[in-house]
Amino acid sequence: MKALNIVGLKKTYKGGVQALKGIDLHVEEGDFFALLGPNGAGKSTTIGIVSSLVNKSEGSVEVFGHSMDTQLVDAKSSIGLVPQEFNFNQFETLMQIVVNQAGYYGVPRDVAKTRAEKYLKQLDLWEKRDARARELSGGMKRRLMIARALMHEPRMLILDEPTAGVDIEIRRSMWQFLKEINQQGITIILTTHYLEEAEMLCRNIAIIDKGRIVENTSMKALLAKL
Ligand code: ADP
Ligand code: ADP
Repeated sequence: MKALNIVGLKKTYKGGVQALKGIDLHVEEGDFFALLGPNGAGKSTTIGIVSSLVNKSEGSVEVFGHSMDTQLVDAKSSIGLVPQEFNFNQFETLMQIVVNQAGYYGVPRDVAKTRAEKYLKQLDLWEKRDARARELSGGMKRRLMIARALMHEPRMLILDEPTAGVDIEIRRSMWQFLKEINQQGITIILTTHYLEEAEMLCRNIAIIDKGRIVENTSMKALLAKL
């Protein structure tokens, strides 16, 4: 089963920027996949379309076999998104943020609370559960976004530059956590502009530049070439 199947995807923003010029991407279930490319290459646009925050111009996207055109609810519930920008309410507590997120996906409240404890503990945020999000450090906020994205137990986690601006120690512990949940079966796709990050984590990689996929291979094969 393919976790993600993108064919002929194009995006032209209003104003005329051609952010995606026809990309194909195939990610197998269980993969740890990197989308690598410089700033402006089209990584966030790709992720935005897959998580239905951005409208595509042309092409097709399937998530675990669910077409985003005809089975959007199923497609969306399979995905947990960790955006680049902090987009939670800074005045809510961590507990409120993660429990309410589960609520949007119809998770019953008692189940949500059990999960909140599990994920906040796993991400080393449990002590902070009653703190307001604005009191957290940058690294904690990143981890909070990961905990929140897991609350509806998606089959795939998509992270947009997850360790941008995070210091090396916290970056390592985030990498470790992502490896663990991948081993438990969650498909992971992350964007990065650090080859090192992709190298540490990912089995397969696509390199995107100026709206086109210029390389799509296993990490091993790519490293052998360099
Ligand atoms: P990346 O994530 O790889 O840095 P993006 O997908 O953010 O790349 O951007 C791809 C291109 O689309 C860039 O030229 C960027 O300026 C443009 N772009 C991104 N978002 C918008 C938008 N909302 N409106 C117009 N142009 C955009
Ligand atoms: P509000 O006052 O906006 O409803 P709450 O403080 O009740 O927000 O928090 C939202 C949800 O998270 C509630 O269901 C609450 O019971 C739960 N919650 C908040 N803090 C904790 C906590 N420390 N342990 C368990 N559940 C909590």
